[in-house]
Amino acid sequence: MKLTVLGSGTAVPDLKRNSAGYLLEENGKRFLIDFGYGTIHQLLRLGITYHAIDRIFLTHNHPDHMCDLIPFLFATKYPLDPRTRNLPIVAGPGFGDYFDRMMQAFNHWLTPESYQVEIVELDVETRTFDGLTVTSCKVAHIDMSRGFRFTDGQGKSVVFSGDTDYCPEIVELGRDADLLILECSTPDDMKVEKHLTPKLCGQIAREAGCRTLLLSHFYPPCDGPSVMDVCRREFAGNIILADDLTVVDI
Ligand SMILES: [Zn+2]
Ligand SMILES: [Zn+2]
Repeated sequence: MKLTVLGSGTAVPDLKRNSAGYLLEENGKRFLIDFGYGTIHQLLRLGITYHAIDRIFLTHNHPDHMCDLIPFLFATKYPLDPRTRNLPIVAGPGFGDYFDRMMQAFNHWLTPESYQVEIVELDVETRTFDGLTVTSCKVAHIDMSRGFRFTDGQGKSVVFSGDTDYCPEIVELGRDADLLILECSTPDDMKVEKHLTPKLCGQIAREAGCRTLLLSHFYPPCDGPSVMDVCRREFAGNIILADDLTVVDI
């Protein structure tokens, strides 16, 4: 599997860090995990258009994790070049109702006519999508929030926390993962409820026993070299601080 960070930022607009989004590629398939604002242009930098995304997974419906779905859906209706393949979107319970209301709010200007959007609600379960095994767990952020673990045919695994606070579920989801991607919102002395800090990220990685830890989702005060130092005191494995367009082969 190949992971490309599309956005390593947050709700704060930043020219260097777009909002949360990741591209996971395996066996010719392209999956988006979160779709925050700015990520649609990051895809274009990689030569990937709205035709070439096979499936979208959303960890939750906060704007910094899903807002580029709106221009994406609108673009797919471009009469000279409409998308024609169905688009599955996988998210936690309640997303289907939210999605319907979002489509209504746009007076159905986003509703596709040349293909279908298929909403799949994943609770706490394991299913196979396009050859990848996907396990989801509830994480400590909002009700809809789910973390995702993707496992390929060779047993390699990558785990996405989405936004979360420390919780046993994310430790379990990240158990022995080849790559664990955790949000790292604020420094420890500015800890915000329902989000992680460098120390907590290191603790989760150590308890999970993951191979490589990728930290992402940095608010501006958490964007500096001390993040690595603090995390390193907790976790002895490989640590990467994400930048936009960082690539990790799993
Ligand atoms: Zn967020
Ligand atoms: Zn959030």
